[in-house]
Amino acid sequence: MKKISVYQPASTEEAIRILSQHGSEAAVYAGGTDLLIRLKNRLKQAPTYLVDIKKIDGLRYIKDDGQGGVHIGAATKLSEMAESGLLQQRYPMLVQAINMISSPELRNASTLGGDLLQEVWCQYLRGGYPCWRNGGYLCYGAIGDNSYYHSAMGGRLCYAVYPGDAATALIPFDATVSLATPAGSKQLTLEQLVPGDMMVDGKIQSHVVRFNEILTEVRIPAPQPGLRASFEKLRPRGVWDFAMASLALTLQVRNGSIENARVVFGGISGKPLRERSVENFLAGKEPNDDLGAHAAAVALANAAPLKYNSTKIDMAKGLLVSGLAKLNAGN
Ligand code: SF4
Repeated sequence: MKKISVYQPASTEEAIRILSQHGSEAAVYAGGTDLLIRLKNRLKQAPTYLVDIKKIDGLRYIKDDGQGGVHIGAATKLSEMAESGLLQQRYPMLVQAINMISSPELRNASTLGGDLLQEVWCQYLRGGYPCWRNGGYLCYGAIGDNSYYHSAMGGRLCYAVYPGDAATALIPFDATVSLATPAGSKQLTLEQLVPGDMMVDGKIQSHVVRFNEILTEVRIPAPQPGLRASFEKLRPRGVWDFAMASLALTLQVRNGSIENARVVFGGISGKPLRERSVENFLAGKEPNDDLGAHAAAVALANAAPLKYNSTKIDMAKGLLVSGLAKLNAGN
């Protein structure tokens, strides 16, 4: 592992000053379950200066916003979310998704912010190959083994899938985030935070957080009364793994018909993929046993699987059918 220096700032302002001073050579360090592996694997893009935010007060909490919603500090551990009575009461689907992230040991170290902003887990990147994302000029995932961790919905330079589950589960609740920046606080929707790969400060990344910005908070509005929600995830290894395909689904049913739907697929694209064509199809329909098959027929029309991963699309459509059946059965 290369030699690194660790800073332990006492405030977000101090952390931002340090990040600004070192540019893209520095990175925020919280749970370390992603960052330390990048260092261990000697990735070219791994930082030299770690800015440890664990000692900063006010980044680790789960609290009622007083209006039926919840605010979560970005340094809150996934295990704390999994055990939160408040989250379980208001957003059981989110808790279900968090409980399917990795293993209990890793949930005990990983933070919400880390899950949202983690680097992709393409085996070529993590193996230190000189690919686009690691400062090179080739995508090994597009031409090599792309069975598990690569996009079936197309890509640009990089074809890795966005690996996090928390964002997939938060988008249907219209969650938003706060970033601390040198110019003050910045607010984004979850979809704006993780829009898929783009160049940010000279690096390909799945999120829009700049080198001297820090994700500080996630805010989830009050759930609508009678909201039905489900999260399902298919993994290569059943006990813990990243999603081959996942689906976060919410239905707002009023007077027997679907007033509003949210359909977000994970594990198949470079971002949590909100499938608006299915949402529009579901709006106004009555939940029934045939709805899943009809919804699956309109889903993922833009699929562009690579050589070995077309099964991801079948899995995602299967999750849509089973998710709708589950929410219909919950009438
Ligand atoms: S998919 Fe992305 S991370 Fe993987 S080899 Fe291609 S460029 Fe690198």
